[in-house]
Amino acid sequence: MDYPLLLLGGTAEARTLAAELTDRGVRVISSLAGRVDRPRLPAGEVRIGGFGGAEGLAAWLREQRVRAVVDATHPFAERISAAAVAASRQAGVELLRLERPGWDRTDSEQWRWVSSLDEAAQLAGQLGERVFLTTGRQGLAAFADNREQWFLIRCVEQPDPPLPERCSIVLSRGPYTVEGERELMREYGIEVLITKDSGGSMTAAKLEAAQQLGVTVLAVRRPHRADVPTVTEVSDAVAWVLTRWDTTA
Ligand code: NAP
Repeated sequence: MDYPLLLLGGTAEARTLAAELTDRGVRVISSLAGRVDRPRLPAGEVRIGGFGGAEGLAAWLREQRVRAVVDATHPFAERISAAAVAASRQAGVELLRLERPGWDRTDSEQWRWVSSLDEAAQLAGQLGERVFLTTGRQGLAAFADNREQWFLIRCVEQPDPPLPERCSIVLSRGPYTVEGERELMREYGIEVLITKDSGGSMTAAKLEAAQQLGVTVLAVRRPHRADVPTVTEVSDAVAWVLTRWDTTA
């Protein structure tokens, strides 16, 4: 019996990990939430859609005889990570968290840390009229009542209402370049950039561009997470998995 690894994905590092492990003969089942219509598919097996909370995930782990779980979901995907912790405990399966480091900046005039999108929405009102929102499709309702400002909203797919009254929507998917980001922010006269502390290089160009243009960055802090074994590099996740797999069997 070829016991699989469950890899909770939806991130670039999850795709890299899937490729590295399948190359080494590990049977990987990647799981995606199914939020986007045409997801970038990882190597190996893929399943798409929710499990039905921690209970559903625990049952799935038992059914599929999963040997270990790597949670490589986005730093802001709180619910699936919490379910992974509870379900792995219930099913008696080891869990590793792979999470890229956040952006390491201190609070300053040009870089302000906030705890939530609501706080970002309130603070942005005091900082400038033209706002670039790169926080994703979910949570835009926090800005919907804001009539004083104009928003450039960038998402992978069309966001659902409620949206701010005065806005333009750009649909695109990274990675982005510093020049491209600078041009975009210049073209739209951006004064404030709102981002989640996603970390990583895929979306970091906007931060460099904002600094060059003197645009204020409002960065939403990562949510608190359960204390589980965590690595920040794909290579460390590969090593963790390989010590648990006998790929010659
Ligand atoms: P979330 O709030 O933690 O999850 C909501 C529900 O979606 C979960 O309870 C689970 O449903 C299902 N789900 C989430 N990730 C899943 C996965 N990898 N496989 C199977 N089911 C999953 O997550 P989210 O913030 O909506 O993010 C959804 C996905 O998009 C994640 O996989 C994440 O890696 C990716 N992503 C998120 C962001 C972000 O900013 N949040 C950015 C980029 C990519 P059930 O309870 O039914 O199991």
